[in-house]
Amino acid sequence: WQTAVEEERAKEFYQKYDPKEVIGRGVSSVVRRCVHRHTGQELAVKIIEITAEKMTAEQLEEVKSATLKEIQVLNMVKGHSSIITLIDSYESTTFIFLVFDLMRRGELFDYLTEKVTLSEKETRSLMRALLEAVQYLHSRNIVHRDLKPENILLDDQGLLKLSDFGFSVQLPPGQKLRELCGTPGYLAPEILKCSMDETHPGYGQEVDLWACGVILYTLLAGSPPFWHRKQMLMLRMIMEGRYQFSSPDWDDRSDTVRDLVARLLLVEPAGRLTAQQALAHPFFRQYQREDARVFSPRKSFRVLILSVLACIRMYGRYRRLRPLTREVLARDPYSVRGIRRLIDGCAFRIYGHWVKKGEQQNRAALFQNTAKIMLLGLEELEP
Ligand code: ADP
Ligand code: MG
Repeated sequence: WQTAVEEERAKEFYQKYDPKEVIGRGVSSVVRRCVHRHTGQELAVKIIEITAEKMTAEQLEEVKSATLKEIQVLNMVKGHSSIITLIDSYESTTFIFLVFDLMRRGELFDYLTEKVTLSEKETRSLMRALLEAVQYLHSRNIVHRDLKPENILLDDQGLLKLSDFGFSVQLPPGQKLRELCGTPGYLAPEILKCSMDETHPGYGQEVDLWACGVILYTLLAGSPPFWHRKQMLMLRMIMEGRYQFSSPDWDDRSDTVRDLVARLLLVEPAGRLTAQQALAHPFFRQYQREDARVFSPRKSFRVLILSVLACIRMYGRYRRLRPLTREVLARDPYSVRGIRRLIDGCAFRIYGHWVKKGEQQNRAALFQNTAKIMLLGLEELEP
């Protein structure tokens, strides 16, 4: 009888939805685009297979109960603008179907792969949405436990929604977890420590903020903070909280965002920022958006550098330079030591001034001064 009812549920799913191409895969699931037959609305369906062929009876039960827990959590958290909405669910003996809103731009992971690194501005808006979702989960005593760019999806407007609640659990205040689960590169030190030491008190929702720190770092650097070819060594790096703001990836990043990374990637969970504290960090403050733009002389003075090069040409000095110098100058003037020193020195004085005076700075004077100094500096460049 039970089976018959469940088979009915599968039939109901197929009557209501038309599954289309595969848009994603997980460990025990396939995600397809699907169309609501009646309204034509496009959605996503996560299909979890629970057939005896590939799994032992024990594994089968495990997948089933894990999925039921996932559905339970999804129903508790839906409604937040940065969290995926579970629209419908169907359980049958062989499949479980979870219907979600369709996130057309896919995983943050793929977006990052395409862009390599993101600007601080873009990182700020994505991290704000992510931390708001985490804050919402934690206020409902839910720990996500699998935060990573593969589980963060983007809709057609590029807005972020947190998904994949497969490892999420409800954790009443004061209680701790011990289970080793998540994805290696994103595991917090205390998860690893407690799996190795029976006397360890266990871990709590702080693990999600560690993962947020790993994500923040990765978005800006284009590579993860903890990585080693040998996984054991990577795990040791995590436990010791050993990472670097390596050059050149971090050269142009603000001290503000480095500070936020450091406060999230703190080995001691008690000292780590909470989601609410992270959102109150200066990195997210409104005025920071305009003022503390990352200052890169190379970028900020690009037009200036190119204009000055034009001046150099006009003054006929360009022809007197060695061919190699000319080539380098044309390709990347900033890479020439003499020019870089000049621009950096000049930029330092001007930018310091700029910050104080704001946007009212006389750009014409700025231009003239820089051009003058650069022309003088050319003597130094080619003795
Ligand atoms: P698993 O728990 O097996 O990892 P996920 O829920 O993370 O499964 O889904 C696997 C992949 O499917 C995701 O990483 C993503 O690429 C894709 N996916 C999941 N849900 C959606 C959705 N609502 N819209 C678009 N793609 C999705
Ligand atoms: Mg996943």
